[in-house]
Amino acid sequence: MNPIRFAARLLLTAGLLLTAGALLAQETTAAKADLSVPSAPPASNSFDLAAIDKTADPCTDFYQYACGNWIKNNPIPADQVSWARSFAVVDERNVYLLWQTLDAAAKHADSPLQKQYGDFYAACINTDLVEKRGLDPLKPAFAQIDQLSSGKQLASLLSQLENEGSPYGVFGFYVGQDQKDSSQQIAQLIQGGLSLPDRDYYLVDSERFKTIRAQYIAHVKKMFALAGDTPEQAAKEAAAVMEIETAFAKAAISRTEMRQPENRYHIYTVADFEKMSPNFDWGAYFGSVGIRHFDTLNVATPEFFKALNGLVESEPVDSWKAYLRWQTLHGQASDLPKAIFDEDFAFFHKTLAGQEEPTPRWKQCTWDADGALGEAVGQDWVKNHFPPAAKESMDKLVAALEKSLADDIKELPWMSDATKKEAEQKLAMIRNKIGYPEKWRDYSSIKIERSDLIGNMHQVEIYQDQYNFNKLGKPVDEKEWGMSPPTVNAYYSQSFNDINFPAGILQPPFFDFKVDPAVNFGGIGVVIGHEMTHGFDDQGSKFDGKGNLREWQTADDRKAFVERTDCEVKEYGGFEAAPAHGDVPAQLLNGKLTLGENTADNGGLRIAYMALLDTLKAQGKSIDEKIDGYTEAQRYFLGFAQVWCVNHTEQFARQAALTDPHSPGKWRVDGTVQNFDAFGKAFGCTKGQPMYPINSCRVW
Ligand SMILES: [Zn+2]
Repeated sequence: MNPIRFAARLLLTAGLLLTAGALLAQETTAAKADLSVPSAPPASNSFDLAAIDKTADPCTDFYQYACGNWIKNNPIPADQVSWARSFAVVDERNVYLLWQTLDAAAKHADSPLQKQYGDFYAACINTDLVEKRGLDPLKPAFAQIDQLSSGKQLASLLSQLENEGSPYGVFGFYVGQDQKDSSQQIAQLIQGGLSLPDRDYYLVDSERFKTIRAQYIAHVKKMFALAGDTPEQAAKEAAAVMEIETAFAKAAISRTEMRQPENRYHIYTVADFEKMSPNFDWGAYFGSVGIRHFDTLNVATPEFFKALNGLVESEPVDSWKAYLRWQTLHGQASDLPKAIFDEDFAFFHKTLAGQEEPTPRWKQCTWDADGALGEAVGQDWVKNHFPPAAKESMDKLVAALEKSLADDIKELPWMSDATKKEAEQKLAMIRNKIGYPEKWRDYSSIKIERSDLIGNMHQVEIYQDQYNFNKLGKPVDEKEWGMSPPTVNAYYSQSFNDINFPAGILQPPFFDFKVDPAVNFGGIGVVIGHEMTHGFDDQGSKFDGKGNLREWQTADDRKAFVERTDCEVKEYGGFEAAPAHGDVPAQLLNGKLTLGENTADNGGLRIAYMALLDTLKAQGKSIDEKIDGYTEAQRYFLGFAQVWCVNHTEQFARQAALTDPHSPGKWRVDGTVQNFDAFGKAFGCTKGQPMYPINSCRVW
């Protein structure tokens, strides 16, 4: 799958968390010849008294109190970089159940759908065949790249690679909704071309990044050598890759700048864009990638394309060849023979993220099948693992949360009545998608071969391109989903103005109707509130109810809003993602990068609590009623905090601080409870204690 497009999609939606795989900004994550049969992981508890560290003071560090024992007793498994009580544990279970479906279909298929995903899985798990075929599957792409004789031909070469489903980096080209008219599907271009997780890795002048850059160049060299190049050639090629990627990094805008919708919106006529970037033959590219004719497009990052234009001329043809050879190799490393697989793992997973062992092959192939044919595998999965009653219960919960957010807006002290009316209208227009799509994607045109893993990946990429390019000029399909049904995540889309909860997250510990409402509101209730609040965070607040980029706040209200979000920027920017040690300085969170997620976490915690109060009142119950020695209010906050109990490697924590818009678990808990007085009251804290401060931040 095209990693650039994948990254672009992530950027335009606001999910609940970013997975380790996505964090590496590449689809090809680790796998090796581990054919051991997995065993069923246990279901998670919704509420875990044993996780609590009673020696900690909840008013000083609530995260430590709620999660301390769990953190102590649950080290990171060797094949993971991050291990969370909720997400990782549910994900392990989902992936296991999905594997059962795939493994059974690989052995015996009853339907064409089962045959398709069964064959996909069978090709992936067959490492003997992968070994036997060696680099043969890459030879056609290598041969095409080798034909390149001038910069002018680069565009035709890239369109050829695109048409064959072969990865090439450089930039992302896709069809997506027009930010200012969400009913229109338009062509879009966005920066790309990097292999390291962020542009900082190329540009920041620190010992840590200098070391990583040296290790990266050594890795690229080894990969070229494994592909059969001489040591001298490999060294030259690695230098060329680093030069081109560094130039791309310099021309790229930062993740923080990218958060501002106006920074990624620049409509050009094709003619004007071609004038701006004449060295790259856009006419040839657009004309042959299988998209209908168009006259205008959005160029999200014009400076990047100006730089690309310069590089087409200034970089020698041999450097471009090296770069594209690298992208071909690197982009498919996890589907290639063990020597290449291991080298890719050693740098991208072990060195960069601290992962000790590769993901077992069965698990990687299950993820790949979900990524490639998610709505095929997912159809059969939801039949067995998502009861209709769950959907009804979710509808009720969502309605309760909608009411709370409406009440919250009514009472906001800083917002004028005119803006409140607009906010209420936007809220009323948010649509909900729960569980799985009403209509499944038709994958029947994808030809899957039981004996051709890389060929299958290319076929899937071709299908996804066609599926996406076909949207050009067509009405927007409001029923489309951006995540597969078994995904343990949720998201809000600015242009759709909808919240989406895949079946995969609608289970314990997020969602469990065997437990008291406090725990459910602390779990899935906060998740729903979080997604709704995204409609009103630093990005979402710039879009109206129709999903169009339009200012609907008065100038004074926008000013008040920014003052409040600035409070969160400063607050979270002071939190440590990784402590200092030796000569290595502490890594602080980026308050601007995480602003939207922090706003959503704070809003979610507040409105889910309000919904809980309403629900208890309707049931004639009190928030002070005790179960297992904790009041309902305390259970709400504990249930919430225990969703975020997590252990991660230091490398992962440092990488995530630069790339992940979400704060780490500790600050998702301690950051939010200290901004919400109901917490300090529930735990009898004294005003002025860390979790019950005198001054705190509040947006929604
Ligand atoms: Zn979010």
